[in-house]
Amino acid sequence: MNKKENMEFCPFCRKRHNIHQVEVEQKDLFHNQEISYLAQYEYCETTGQQWANEDQLKKNSVRLKDAYRKSVGLLSSEEIKSIRKKYKISQEALASILGWGKKTITRYETVSIQDQVHDDVLRKIGEDPLWFFDFVTRSKDTIDRKLFDKYTTSVSSIYQNLNFEIAKKSLFLEYYYLIKDEKVGNVQVNPNRIENVVNYFAMKIPGLSKNKATRLLLLADFMHYCKYDFGITGLAYTYERNYILPKGHEVIFNLEGIHMTEIMENDHSMFRIEPNFTSEMSLLNKIEINTLDAVIKRFERLNEDDYFDKLNSAAKSTSGKALDYIPYNIACDLELTLN
Ligand SMILES: [Zn+2]
Repeated sequence: MNKKENMEFCPFCRKRHNIHQVEVEQKDLFHNQEISYLAQYEYCETTGQQWANEDQLKKNSVRLKDAYRKSVGLLSSEEIKSIRKKYKISQEALASILGWGKKTITRYETVSIQDQVHDDVLRKIGEDPLWFFDFVTRSKDTIDRKLFDKYTTSVSSIYQNLNFEIAKKSLFLEYYYLIKDEKVGNVQVNPNRIENVVNYFAMKIPGLSKNKATRLLLLADFMHYCKYDFGITGLAYTYERNYILPKGHEVIFNLEGIHMTEIMENDHSMFRIEPNFTSEMSLLNKIEINTLDAVIKRFERLNEDDYFDKLNSAAKSTSGKALDYIPYNIACDLELTLN
């Protein structure tokens, strides 16, 4: 018996005193099975009475059902909740992407017991983020874009370096809503071309850091766009926490063809890109390679911080406020020529 003290009016001896909360091993019949579970009650020592308040009634009912679920091998309400939390998805949203009734998950987490079929699906989703990901993908036309991005980010952060294929997939999904305009340099995002560009830079620049690779990517895209009206990778660049970063930057360097290693330098962890010589370079044409070479040369003479500051203020001054995306054409006025 666990006891918790609690000064309250007692309905049995009709006095104010410490009402203990007790937990009692209880056996109830449920679905024709005798189920034992810990039930919670209030307890009056004077009269020896115990009773359940409204909260306890609810809690005890959940505990009974969870004990039943455990005995027949179904997920408990807490387990269902934790699956949902893992993907940062609400009860209704999860029900919706699974194609179930709006309140189905809410009921499973409170009053009802799921059948075996629903249990199998929830269990699969809990065990394998790709399953969840497939359901999200199938509902991409019906769910809000921000939520969609949130779920795909949950999945890719679970995978991190574990699975490369997911990096490619989630990059596509992050770009799903962007149309081909100056936000993406008039081209469709292409993970293989991103791999090609990063590897080209890594081959030419020994010890290439992830940060530098990110800036080189932007320069390559913007410079190419200003000369030919098309970017190279199709990445969109956003302004995030004082940095200009490509959308989906969390997954870009997890792409299969990019070999990133973490090294320690002066007690700081740094990410370096190792050239991947086995990666196919076939997707870039000669003109694009020329741009990459020009970018490397240009970068040596570039005052980086100054340049990226200018890019930011140019982006702000065209709209009066910070833009979600930095349109490629903004770079063309910034004396960034290919020579
Ligand atoms: Zn009492």
